[in-house]
Amino acid sequence: MIGGCDLVELVAEFGSPLYILDEHTVRTACRQYRDALTRYYPGESQPIYASKAWNCLAVCALVASEGLGIDVVSGGEFYTALQAGVNPEQLYLHGNNKSSDELRLAYDQGGTIMVDNWLELDLLTAIASPDQPARIALRLTPGIECHTHEYIRTGHLDSKFGFDPQQLPQVFARLQQQPQLRCVGLHAHIGSQIFERQPHHDLGDVLVGWYQQARAAGLPITELNIGGGLGICYTEADDPPSIEEWVKTASQAIATACETRQLPLPKLICEPGRSLIGTAGLTAYTLGSRKQVPGVRTYVAVDGGMSDNPRPITYQSVYRAAIANRFSAPLTETVTVAGKHCESGDIVLPTAELPSSEPGDILAVFATGAYNYSMASNYNRLPRPAAVLVGGGDAELILARETYTDLLQYDRLPSRLQLDATTNR
Ligand SMILES: *Cc1c(COP(=O)(O)O)cnc(C)c1O
Repeated sequence: MIGGCDLVELVAEFGSPLYILDEHTVRTACRQYRDALTRYYPGESQPIYASKAWNCLAVCALVASEGLGIDVVSGGEFYTALQAGVNPEQLYLHGNNKSSDELRLAYDQGGTIMVDNWLELDLLTAIASPDQPARIALRLTPGIECHTHEYIRTGHLDSKFGFDPQQLPQVFARLQQQPQLRCVGLHAHIGSQIFERQPHHDLGDVLVGWYQQARAAGLPITELNIGGGLGICYTEADDPPSIEEWVKTASQAIATACETRQLPLPKLICEPGRSLIGTAGLTAYTLGSRKQVPGVRTYVAVDGGMSDNPRPITYQSVYRAAIANRFSAPLTETVTVAGKHCESGDIVLPTAELPSSEPGDILAVFATGAYNYSMASNYNRLPRPAAVLVGGGDAELILARETYTDLLQYDRLPSRLQLDATTNR
């Protein structure tokens, strides 16, 4: 059961594979962030959802209804949040190479632009006007190392994201001369799936150091944004701090550093993605073929794989799974769950302890709410799965299943390539 719905019945009704998102779990995580900020941070605060984890109309609207702002990283994500009815003043545009069109969209709508580099300062100076300055924050690279996969580490100095803090004096000097830009915040994000608390404690201190510099330079900074990055449990081996503990660490670090330096408390913003939505989602697959490699392993294949969940092949991510229609059966075999893509690395779970199973059984893979749908592709021309939002025993479609017709929507066949039925046979 998930959200009061029988998972096997959901698959019968909406098809397979199926993304399933539990509304209550998402709302609970939103409230945990909000409540912990209120409890542990003595100043103003707001969590904003890093929507690249799962950006679609329903998820943007759901999270915004809990009072969270939304962090977007492209014009497409910005547009989706706008269409979901999110107040543009609650939108924060990120990205290390925003186009003029993306910057213009965010500026015209009155969103906050997280400026990443000098080119963006130039582009925005040309776009914005002094009587309606662009609301911006600066993204900086704090030089903080954390133990996570190197592809999802962003805080070390050799990162493609953000200004080098050594350049702060020049950036501040530039902003002083630019009435088109109103810089209200400073931001850093150090990586993802982080289990330690020390990096965000250290980051709080670093942010406040920059804040002091900015104030000394006369900039009207009122917001510090500590990014996201809190990890979640994918398997029993994962041991992340709770949302409350993480928020407490960040809040206290900033509050203490401000007190020590006798600075007024800025508004504290954090940007969780994975920890807000990861454990609220699961993916249901139908089991198909099986192959035994004697003395090595048994492969059991599902009707999806790296197209609906590219994390295992990209980051060697591991998950847990269970067979929904045999949930209380004893776990009698160890298998490798493979996807159906033409790629040997297309493995959903390298090792899974499962009951004995047969084709047609429903496999539930847990904690797929973050970076699954949002990273999905049509590799091998597989239509993307549907997604349903469940709660209180009801299930509502939030993403329709793609069809073969959808796959051809943007294909164009030049007339000179059109195959003639007679010559082609
Ligand atoms: C990805 C990202 C986040 C969210 O990271 P999680 O690990 O999913 O919490 C927050 N801020 C920025 C700038 C990001 O790029």
